[in-house]
Order: sequence, then C-alpha cells, then structure tokens
Amino acid sequence: MSDQPLTDTLFSFINDSPTPFHAVANIVRILKKSGFTILDEGRKWQIERGGRYAVIRNGSLIAFTLENLDFSREGFRILGGHTDSPSLQLKPHPRAMASPYFQFGVEKYGGALLNTWFDRELSLAGRITVQSENGTACSVLIDFEKPVLYIPSLAIHLDRKANEGREINAQTDISPVLAQNISSEEDWHSLLAERLNNLYPDLAWRSILGYDLFCYDCSPPRFFGLDNQFICGPRLDNLLSCFIGLQALLQQQGSANCMLVFTNHEEIGSTSNSGALSNFSSSVLSRICSSFEDQAICMNRSFLISLDNAHASHPNFADKSDGDHQVILNHGPVIKINSSQRYCSNSRSGSVFRLLCSEIGVQTQDFVMRSDMLCGSTIGPLTSAELGIEGVDVGVPTWAMHSIREVTGAMDPELLYLAVLHFFNRDSLPVISDS
Ligand code: ZN
Repeated sequence: MSDQPLTDTLFSFINDSPTPFHAVANIVRILKKSGFTILDEGRKWQIERGGRYAVIRNGSLIAFTLENLDFSREGFRILGGHTDSPSLQLKPHPRAMASPYFQFGVEKYGGALLNTWFDRELSLAGRITVQSENGTACSVLIDFEKPVLYIPSLAIHLDRKANEGREINAQTDISPVLAQNISSEEDWHSLLAERLNNLYPDLAWRSILGYDLFCYDCSPPRFFGLDNQFICGPRLDNLLSCFIGLQALLQQQGSANCMLVFTNHEEIGSTSNSGALSNFSSSVLSRICSSFEDQAICMNRSFLISLDNAHASHPNFADKSDGDHQVILNHGPVIKINSSQRYCSNSRSGSVFRLLCSEIGVQTQDFVMRSDMLCGSTIGPLTSAELGIEGVDVGVPTWAMHSIREVTGAMDPELLYLAVLHFFNRDSLPVISDS
C-alpha cells in the first residue's frame, strides 16, 4: 500500500468512482499496476499457478490469485461486495416542458433516501455508447466532474406542513435542473459531445446511441466530529467495502487462493447479466476448475465473507434497533444475522469470522433486525446460494444508509481491513467440525 493513510486513499477512490463502471475501471487500473492480467470472457483462458487475474462484466469484477491449483487441498477465500449505490438515473430523453429551465426526468435507482438529494451540488457520470466514424459503436465512460445539476427544495412558505412529513413524488418532484440557456435535446447532445471530445480527443465518433447516466454528490468524503472520529461521504455503501477488499487482495502475502467478487445491480435486486444472481461467478469458477467435481470440491473448501455496510444503532431513533444488539461506530466490523437467511451468516460462519478477528485483537459486533421490522438483504445469500459456499455477511457500522451522504466511524475502514487481510493471509482457516 502507499504511504498515505488508508482513509485518504479510500476518499480518493470514492471521488474517482461516481458510478459502478468507474469503480470497476479504477479497480482494473490499480490491479494492472500490480501485475494482474485482465481475462476476456470471449476468448480462451490460459491460467496458471502463481497467476493474478481479473475478469469484468457490465459494472462487475472478479479478481483472483492462484497459489494452488490442487482444489482437493485448497479452495478460495472470497470477499464479496457490490459496486453500485442508490442514485437517480437519467431517462433517455430530457423533460419536454414549457419551462425556462432545462431539466431531466429521472428514475430512482435502488432504495435512495430521496429527501437527501435536495439542495446538493450534483454532477453527472456514467457510460455512453457512440457510433464511430467508420460505423462501429463503442462505449466510453463520462464524468462531468463538477456541479452541473441541482434539485431545489420547495420553500417551507409554500408548503407549511413540510416538517410534518412531505411526500416525494419521483416523477414530478426530483427533476434536476441542468441549465437555463439550452432548450432542446440537440443542445443537450451538443453538451455531451463537448464533454466527450474533452475526455477523448482521439475518439472519432459521430452520434450518441445511448447512455446510462447517473446523478451523484460532488462533495468529497470528509472527517467530522470534534476529534475527527467520524467519516461522512457519498457511496460509502458499498465502495468502502470494495476498496477495503481490493487493498487486502493487493497486500495479502499468504499461500491461499484469494478472490474478489464485486457485482453490480445489488441495489435493484441483483437480477442482470452481471448481478449476484447472474452466472458471472459460477462461470468464472467453472473455467478455473478443470472439472465439475473439481469445482464442487473447490467450493466445499472455500469460504465467503460478503462485505456490505451494516446499520449502526441511531442515537435519535434508538427504538428502531434491537436494544440487546447495539451496533456502535468505531467498535469494529459487524456480523449481520437473520433467521430468514436475508444474510448468509450462521453460527458456524460467524464463529469463523469472530475467531479471525479475535486473533488480531479486533472486536466484532452483531446486528440483528428488530423482530417486528422487515430485514434488508445483500449479495451474501445470493452468492452463497449460487456457488454453494459457506459464508458470513459482514460490514462497517453505518448511519444514514442510502442517504446521499452516509456515515461510519473513522476507525472502521482500518478495522475491517485488518480483519479481511488476516482472512486472506492465515495459513488455513479455523476449521469448525461437526462432532
Ligand atoms: Zn450495500
């Protein structure tokens, strides 16, 4: 790792990763610098012992190191995560309305806490597909990197009951304002063209075919609190986990096969060609293992830590948490538990994680939902089911999950990093036998 504190590089990674596509591109850039080979799913693979590889698919990434190809002895230590975060996604065409302002219609992407998107300097980023001069098409990443959008609140004078519970209509209330001096879709495409030409001066293209563009908060993550004990920032769920997993993979020095499985589309249910419900992870593993039986043995000998942020108990809404299972910022990684397997943790897999943490002096916490409230979920159960692998759901304690700015403890990234690095480095994992 660089000499910079972990949190500084985390903040840079989050700033540089406004969308899942950017997050994956940044991870690939870092992996390539560390000697990883990028494998093309559309070609035959030549993988060998000692190799370091990564595969990408539509906003998802799988990276792995191969120390041992004898899967009857050694499976994979897998860290899971998701690359997407709740957002507002632009509809294909801008809003057609007789207005002095140029606005977009947006769709809510995932379970965004909409009231937090008002009165923020927002930018725009994503993936855009263009037709080139020779008639072929290509996709490139785009990011305006500065505040270009804004969703103003309605003044309280015009809605006297705003503080008693304002409902937000995603069709009519959250259209961001882009400009005052343009009025047509052609003008909008000209703006996109200008940005594309700045970013890719050598890209000979002639028309825009389509885009996946998302609004995002321009303000960088920062410390707060009298002694800087807390961190607030956009997309902590779940770029923090992806960053920590990546650092652990880069720094691991053990003899185990290690793998990152970071999938897109978790916030919208994981059903896509690259989400946790896709065949991405099973396809990659089947190409690594030479036979069905090898893969079955490999999965039996593997272990998954699914990383995704956990709800910390809220100081102003204590009754929204189970009082017997308080989760506190800066008190260590949280094991997430749910009897309906909304999390993949069980007593055995949770114990493996507790043992790992206790060996390095890291405290763990347990999250369980109040029994009279519905529990969220994550990629852990999906990946565990898809691969038939034992796993545990773990994350940093977080306030304001799915707000445009979320909060965790200043020590929490480092504590999670120590835990997952030990997971990768330990000679063999703690074995919990049935007796
Ligand atoms: Zn998440």
